[in-house]
Amino acid sequence: AKLDGGGTVRRFDPELFALEEQRRKAEGDILRALDVGEFEVHYQPIVDLDGEHTVGVEALVRWRHPERGLVPPGVFLDMAESLGLLPRLGGWVLEEACRQAVNWQRQFPGFEMNVNLSASQLTNPHLVAEVRAILERTGLDPEHLVLELTESVALTDLVESARVLSELKSLGVRIALDDFGTGFSSLSHLSALPVDVVKIDRSFVQAMPDSGGASVAEAVLHIARTFNLAPVAEGVEDAAQAEWLRELACSRAQGYHFARPMPALGVTELLDRQADR
Ligand code: C2E
Ligand code: CA
Ligand code: CA
Ligand code: CA
Repeated sequence: AKLDGGGTVRRFDPELFALEEQRRKAEGDILRALDVGEFEVHYQPIVDLDGEHTVGVEALVRWRHPERGLVPPGVFLDMAESLGLLPRLGGWVLEEACRQAVNWQRQFPGFEMNVNLSASQLTNPHLVAEVRAILERTGLDPEHLVLELTESVALTDLVESARVLSELKSLGVRIALDDFGTGFSSLSHLSALPVDVVKIDRSFVQAMPDSGGASVAEAVLHIARTFNLAPVAEGVEDAAQAEWLRELACSRAQGYHFARPMPALGVTELLDRQADR
């Protein structure tokens, strides 16, 4: 036991200490990685289902770790978020993605860039000013930027989220609800939030019924149309799912069946081939 300044006795807890140590180390690691440039943005094509050409991409962060190799976001994003580092990391991703989008738009005007926003970014009071500054620095036409957020993020404080989203939209960017249908959404929330696009979660896309049975994907598509939202199907892994979505008149899709997330150069090559077609 140890006496701290206030005169109260605090017991030394080795488990808590180890956890604290771990967090401190993770924080140092992430800050260092930001400084030396170990984060990378990969891009997954979003295709138009008739013709299957790439109309845009989703930016997905990765960590090129010197010992651990290419680390997916599932491994470090929650930690970065809980350490309060997501506004910085996310800001870097956004700027990188916008710069890249300007590049690709020289060849394909109208090419779209989707970027994910975390909970702490949405509640960050500097978000709108930062997005504006990034749009100015990169020269990206805001019309071609789609900011994705999950329902759980948007619904923690509905009134405040709606206010921030409206401010973002006044910059000219569009808003997508990510993983749509998996959260605690109710239809009234949908109409309360200024959303333009819904991304249909892959769990629904992959639950394609055997023979024309009812499906959640169909219901979600119906909701999207009712609210005048553009649907994008996520996690399309085979031709049958793509065909099914085409039949349901879902015009846009994303998934391993079309392309995996890839470094920027891969997208440039893909667009070159597409231009030659
Ligand atoms: P998400 O936004 O739902 O992104 C789609 C995830 O599904 C990506 O995983 C992608 O690689 C994966 N995916 C794409 N097609 C398929 C498919 O056909 N089948 C399957 N099974 N998976 C597919 P990834 O890159 O590991 O990202 C995981 C999550 O991390 C993302 O889910 C997103 O929530 C978050 N994330 C990634 N990058 C960022 C970022 O820059 N900022 C923030 N805030 N979150 C990010
Ligand atoms: Ca997303
Ligand atoms: Ca998603
Ligand atoms: Ca997800």
